[in-house]
Amino acid sequence: MSFFQREFVANSAQVRVRFGPGVRHELGAEIARIGAKRALILSTPQQSETALAFAERIGARAAGVFTGARMHTPVSVTEEALRQVAEARIDCLVAVGGGSTTGLAKAIAYRTDLPQIVVPTTYAGSEATPILGQTEAGRKTTLKDPKVQPEVILYDAELVASLPVPMTVTSALNAIAHAAEGLYAQDRNPLSTALALEGVRALVTALPRVLEDPADLDARGETLYGAWLCGTVLGQVGMALHHKLCHTLGGSFDLPHAETHAVILPHAIAYNAQAAAAELAPMAALFGAESAGAGLHAFATRMGAPTRLADLGLAEADLGAAAEIATQNAYWNPAPLTQAGLHALLEAAFHGHAPNT
Ligand code: NAD
Repeated sequence: MSFFQREFVANSAQVRVRFGPGVRHELGAEIARIGAKRALILSTPQQSETALAFAERIGARAAGVFTGARMHTPVSVTEEALRQVAEARIDCLVAVGGGSTTGLAKAIAYRTDLPQIVVPTTYAGSEATPILGQTEAGRKTTLKDPKVQPEVILYDAELVASLPVPMTVTSALNAIAHAAEGLYAQDRNPLSTALALEGVRALVTALPRVLEDPADLDARGETLYGAWLCGTVLGQVGMALHHKLCHTLGGSFDLPHAETHAVILPHAIAYNAQAAAAELAPMAALFGAESAGAGLHAFATRMGAPTRLADLGLAEADLGAAAEIATQNAYWNPAPLTQAGLHALLEAAFHGHAPNT
């Protein structure tokens, strides 16, 4: 298999990545390494115990803990955290959690340029990108800025071992989605393609082992490794139909992030099957399937992922509006985007039919 392209542009961010079970215990040393002395530890309310344990471990280097991170990075929460940043004279941010907590660190860094150390506990991959999505007055907007890219990532399999199995599966499919769309991205390059395929391989190989034993640290480590690679692809190249649909369903209909990715992915990839046949062929081969869409559908079903938008809270009456919103702003996609085509895709995903049937 060759990833060679005659012409390409590749940009890689300067990021320090440390991997290993227990690597979170090196946090104090990592803070010192970037020359910081007063860290603000960030988490969601659900992960406040982990955040407090981090603060206790790093002692005087913890100048505060903020446990109010929320899904979709509301600007009001960022402003509340910024007050603490100013009052406590913070000089570095530590995010421990999934994409929601990382989102808060990025939103603060965007406004202050403070360095970020992220300790991810899901597979969403936000830590590996310069992308920030935030919500204000019910509207989610996305921006890309080098200031938003975290400087240090500590991947600790022991932390992700507590991720409940249903979220483990949907979050892994969220990661695979970045790689799948990276394969046919207009601005892909040989490196992003190699990362995408190795990322999918790692997740597809290790996820069944995690389901057999969620505390298996080798399997958890390999899934985290896959998530890192897939997140790196998301940070390097543009996404298309799948991410646009998920953004629409999350932003306009308040559907949950990772679950929506899990349901939509096989359908969006099947929609692009013919237009990106050569690019998706290595992924189909990884699944040992006839097509990438069919392989993803079989894999997601076998892993027990949700398969019906109906189960995520979408009303059938909203399918037309969702198809309309998803075609509103023109964006690049391998296959032409039509409202009728997207309506059919969403209808199949709503009922949990196999893609393209
Ligand atoms: P999340 O961060 O919202 O986490 C979901 C819930 O699971 C939270 O309550 C969290 O505290 C809990 N949790 C996380 N890890 C856990 C663990 N190991 N054990 C127990 N509980 C745990 O979910 P997510 O899917 O990681 O992130 C979704 C958000 O990230 C969305 O807002 C999405 O838009 C954003 N995102 C952004 C990017 C980017 O590049 N900007 C990339 C991917 C996702």
